[in-house]
Amino acid sequence: MRQLSDIRGFTPALLSQLGKLSIHTPQALLLHLPLRYLDETRVTLIRDLRLGEQAQIEGVVVHNEVSYKPRKMLNVHVQDDSGILNLRFVHFYPSQIAAMQVGTRLRAFGEVRPGFFGVEMVHPQQRKVSEETPVSTALTPVYPTAAGVSQNTLRKAVQRVLTQDYLQETLPAWVYQDIHLPDFASSVQLLHQPTPETALNTLEDRSHPAWQRLAFDELLAQQLSMRLHYARRKQARAPAIAPSRTLVPALCAQLPFALTPAQQKVGAEITHDLTQPHPMQRLLQGDVGSGKTIVACLAALQLIEQGWQVAIMAPTEILAEQHYKKMHGWLTPLGIDVAWLTGSQPKRERAQSLARIASGEAMLAVGTHALFQDEVQFKQLGLAIVDEQHRFGVEQRLALRRKGQQHAIEPHQLMMSATPIPRTLSMSYYADLDVSVIDELPPGRTPVVTKLVADDRREEILQRVREACALGHQAYWVCPLIEESEALQLQTANDTYAYMQGAFPELQVGLVHGRMKPAEKQAVMQAFAANHLHLLVATTVIEVGVDVPNASLMVIDHAERMGLSQLHQLRGRVGRGAAKSTCILLYSKQQCSKIGRARLKVIYENTDGFVIAQADLQIRGPGELLGTRQSGVPMLKIADLERDAELLVHAKQKADALLARAPQSVEVHLQRWLSQGAEWVKV
Ligand code: ADP
Ligand code: MG
Repeated sequence: MRQLSDIRGFTPALLSQLGKLSIHTPQALLLHLPLRYLDETRVTLIRDLRLGEQAQIEGVVVHNEVSYKPRKMLNVHVQDDSGILNLRFVHFYPSQIAAMQVGTRLRAFGEVRPGFFGVEMVHPQQRKVSEETPVSTALTPVYPTAAGVSQNTLRKAVQRVLTQDYLQETLPAWVYQDIHLPDFASSVQLLHQPTPETALNTLEDRSHPAWQRLAFDELLAQQLSMRLHYARRKQARAPAIAPSRTLVPALCAQLPFALTPAQQKVGAEITHDLTQPHPMQRLLQGDVGSGKTIVACLAALQLIEQGWQVAIMAPTEILAEQHYKKMHGWLTPLGIDVAWLTGSQPKRERAQSLARIASGEAMLAVGTHALFQDEVQFKQLGLAIVDEQHRFGVEQRLALRRKGQQHAIEPHQLMMSATPIPRTLSMSYYADLDVSVIDELPPGRTPVVTKLVADDRREEILQRVREACALGHQAYWVCPLIEESEALQLQTANDTYAYMQGAFPELQVGLVHGRMKPAEKQAVMQAFAANHLHLLVATTVIEVGVDVPNASLMVIDHAERMGLSQLHQLRGRVGRGAAKSTCILLYSKQQCSKIGRARLKVIYENTDGFVIAQADLQIRGPGELLGTRQSGVPMLKIADLERDAELLVHAKQKADALLARAPQSVEVHLQRWLSQGAEWVKV
């Protein structure tokens, strides 16, 4: 790959400026595309300027003065044949004062505003010209930039690489012509130097075919890279596991329920993967309460039956503990030893767990991220199950995978997520995983009734909690989220708890929050699960996975502050038993923002996790939804999954076609796009 430093004109100073934008190659420079454009192809008479409009004027400086009241500023008056315009600068260098001396001819571009001296432009772009300087014949690109790198520097640098040498087509013509997209060279050229007749709005909303071509290329690169990565991992060796003959039937016979058809379907998909001598890479998606745990357990049993160990990892202690209890309850009667491992357990107990895992005595290990620390040695790990996978970072998931990589064998991987992933997201960012979806809830659940209540009716709601508990139901009271301050959040939880205890002397009230010691947390959760507590005051720590079927009422205080998936997860804590459940969203009329209102409307009107996730994608964008800030997966830079959903479908099809028909192009195409530093690959 050619570096910019090999090209004439790229001085060390220029290279270091471009380096600030992580631009090191001609390709990266070419793909550093404008954010927007300025129309400097026309010069407007000062008389004809309209307030609020972006325009270019040309004139001679007739006045240049630095004044100090009300604050330091530079005012430069420019005159043309029709009038005078003030250019105002609040930040400026001495060199700029000098460059705009009286008598200088300037061309300035900026927004026209009302000002003290009549109309003015504040901090316009301006440069010295002569009467002969031609106006530009192309729209002027405005690039994303960094401190100390001027637009002019970027424009000139781009010009140097806008030559056929760097604009080679990476794709066979049939790939883009089929879908009516232009070739690469003309697309890039147009985006950097659009002709004046190019409709500015199609550039700005990126619907112009040139933008579409680049978005397509980017999506295609993502598909190809994911596909190759998937194929490479599929070449690794993993234990091929024959379908279970004893343990799975034995557990199923013990269960108080029958698996739903959806559970059976995904179970069969997993079983099939496990029979392969290559690692399973499957994402098991299912809405809250859809019954993923038992599916995971049945998968685990298949390995255990063949003498392979299994690890189940959960993101919080509460959740890990709950899994442990469930697994312990299901597997102990089958004579299987289950080990428990967290960071907070007593040293002796931990040492025992480690020893049992290392000797292979414990066939199943359940725990938090403590499971992938170095001191944890499995005898023979065959399957790693990661619950709520998006809550773990890439590093942690990698570490667990490495645990199994002795004897060149990789463990199978099953990832689970209760955050439904909208179709476009799973088609793009999850293209390197096989996806199974549990698309129905177990029978006998009555849907949760959701109520939106303004907090001037708080008293009424408190009474309702009291009555429900008196009737033998259990309730959650979720305390407001206070993002700015953990201390304040804690205090609110404590205050709420104290208040509830005082207000409801006849009820047993518990408190659980993130700052409690794990053992304390466990004790409270146990008491609640065993129905020794009527009311559980909680922070959002209960958001993930907590399963207490008897709880049928939830009040979420200041619901307007919570995110959509958070609300969906919280609400999923009720409606798990036979009793009719209610979720009350208490919101503050005063504090509810526009977005908050939009979220409450979505959660009130919908129960389907996929619909909610789709709305969440629109409100928050893919980065937040994927939790990529933690996992470090870079985002698409050009394509937008909402806007370019159709291109994504094309990219997926063309990726297949290209791999089959023109593998040599695949490499060339990836070289261009991966030089962007983008690695879409997930672990
Ligand atoms: P999630 O998918 O949110 O992890 P869980 O696995 O915790 O859901 O299951 C939620 C509840 O549903 C649990 O109490 C579980 O025992 C129960 N459950 C799971 N599958 C079934 C089924 N087929 N029929 C009835 N109840 C089920
Ligand atoms: Mg779960």
